[in-house]
Amino acid sequence: MSEFSLFNTLTRSVEPFAPSDGETVKLYTCGPTVYNPAHLGNFRTFLFEDLMRRALRLRGWKVVQVMNLTDVDDKIITRASEQGKTIREVTDPVITIFHEDRKYLRIEDAEHYPRATAYIPDMIALIERLIANGVAYVADDRSVYFAIEKFAMYGRLSRLDTREIQSGARVSQDDYSKENAQDFALWKAAKPLDEACEAAWDSPWGRGRPGWHLECSAMAMAILGETIDLHAGGIDLIFPHHEDEIAQSEAATGKTFARCWCHGEFLLTDGAKMAKRVGNVQNVADLRRNGVSGAAVRHFMFSTHYRKQLNLSGEALEGSIEGVRRIGDFAERLTAAQGGTRGLEEAADRLDRDVRTAIFDDLNAPNAMAALFEFIRTANKELDAGGSEAGSLRRAREVLAMVNGLLDVQPDRAAADADLAGWVEGQLTARTEARARRDFGTADAIRKALDEKGVVIEDTAAGTRWKLDQ
Ligand code: AMP
Ligand code: ZN
Repeated sequence: MSEFSLFNTLTRSVEPFAPSDGETVKLYTCGPTVYNPAHLGNFRTFLFEDLMRRALRLRGWKVVQVMNLTDVDDKIITRASEQGKTIREVTDPVITIFHEDRKYLRIEDAEHYPRATAYIPDMIALIERLIANGVAYVADDRSVYFAIEKFAMYGRLSRLDTREIQSGARVSQDDYSKENAQDFALWKAAKPLDEACEAAWDSPWGRGRPGWHLECSAMAMAILGETIDLHAGGIDLIFPHHEDEIAQSEAATGKTFARCWCHGEFLLTDGAKMAKRVGNVQNVADLRRNGVSGAAVRHFMFSTHYRKQLNLSGEALEGSIEGVRRIGDFAERLTAAQGGTRGLEEAADRLDRDVRTAIFDDLNAPNAMAALFEFIRTANKELDAGGSEAGSLRRAREVLAMVNGLLDVQPDRAAADADLAGWVEGQLTARTEARARRDFGTADAIRKALDEKGVVIEDTAAGTRWKLDQ
C-alpha cells in the first residue's frame, strides 16, 4: 500500500502517518463555537477536515471522528446576556443551522458531535487530576488555573519562547495572544451574568464554568481515549487553544495527547482573515441564496492546498461554478456512453494513480483536481473516437466514482432542483408581501427575476402556483 503523509505542526515537517493500531484513526477536530452561524472561513477548516477523513478512508483505515460543539464560552455568554436568553436558547438554533450548512456542503457526518455542556463531570474530574498532580491551583476567587511553568513542555507546539512566560500571572479570558502566555483558567468562578444565562455548575470549588481549552481535552479523552492519532483545526488554534489542550491533557495523563497535529490556513476576503470581528464574513446561507452549489464551494476550497491562504472572490467562485458544470457534463456523457476505448481505460488508470498519489501526499487536493480535469480532457477525446469496450467504460466510471467519493464535486441534479424550489418559494412569499403593501415595483422585480430563471407563475384564487418553463 502506498504511503500516507501529513504535515505535522509539532515537527513542522511532512511525515509518514498511520493510526497507532494500524486500523482505526482516532481523529479530533475542534468544532464551531455556536453563538452565530459558522462563516465560510470556519467551513474552509471543516472542509479540509472532511477531505482528511475521506482520504484516510480511501487509504483503507476506519475513522472515528469527534467534532465538538462549543456551547459554553465567553462569546456565548455575552450573546445570551445581550439577548436576555439562556445559553441553551442561543446555541440550540445555531447548532441546527450548523448541521444544515454542513450537509449543504456535503461534509460527511462525524461519528460524534459532543456538546461541551454534556461533559461537565469529565471536565471537573480532569481538573481534580491536575490539582492532584500539582500543576493547577485554586485562586482566591475560587477559579482554578493551570500553572504553565510547572509543565516543562509548555510552548512546544506553538514554538513559544518560554522566557516570555510570566510566572504566576493569570489570564482569565478564553482567547489571548502569545504575549500573554500566562496561567490560564481551567474553571471560572461564576459571576451573576453566568448564573443569569444558566452557564454555571456546581463543582468542588463552588459554582462556575469550564474554560474553553479544557472542554476539548475532556471531550477528546472521554470519547477517544488518552492518546489520539490526529488532531486538527484552523491555524489560529495553535496558540493558545491547542497549546493549552496539550498542557492539560499531558500533565494529567503523562501520555502523548495527540500523535499528529494538522492545521489549515485561513480563508481571506480582500486580503484580510474572514472573521466576525472584522465584519467581512459570508455565510453559507448567502451563497445558497445566490444559487452557488455545495459542489462549487468544495471545488473552490480544494483548488488551493489547505496550508496556503485562500482569497474568496466572486471571480474564483464563478470559475468553480464553471468547473463543476464541466464535471457534471462529463459525468452525464460517461453515463450515457455505450462503450469505451483502450485509451479511456489507460486514462482512468492514470487518474486513479495520480489522485491517490496527490491526496496521500499531505492532502494535495489541487493536484488531485488537476488530474481530474486532465482525465476529462483525454476521456472526452476518447469518447469522441467511439469505442465498444465495456470493460474500459466500467473502469472509467469506477475511477470517476472513487474521485467523486473523495472530492465530492459533482453537481447533484436533485439537490439543485430542491434548492431552486426553495428559492422560488421564498421569492413568491416576498412578492405576496410586496403586493399586500402595494409595493408593485418590488413585486414586478421579483416576477422578472423568476422569469429569468424560467419560472412561470400563475395567480389563482387558492394562491400562486409555479412551474418551470420547459
Ligand atoms: P470557532 O467557531 O471560532 O471556534 O472556529 C471554528 C474553526 O474555524 C476553528 O478551527 C478555526 O480555526 C476556524 N477558522 C476561523 N476563522 C477562519 C478563517 N478565516 N479561515 C479558516 N478557518 C477559520
Ligand atoms: Zn478544541
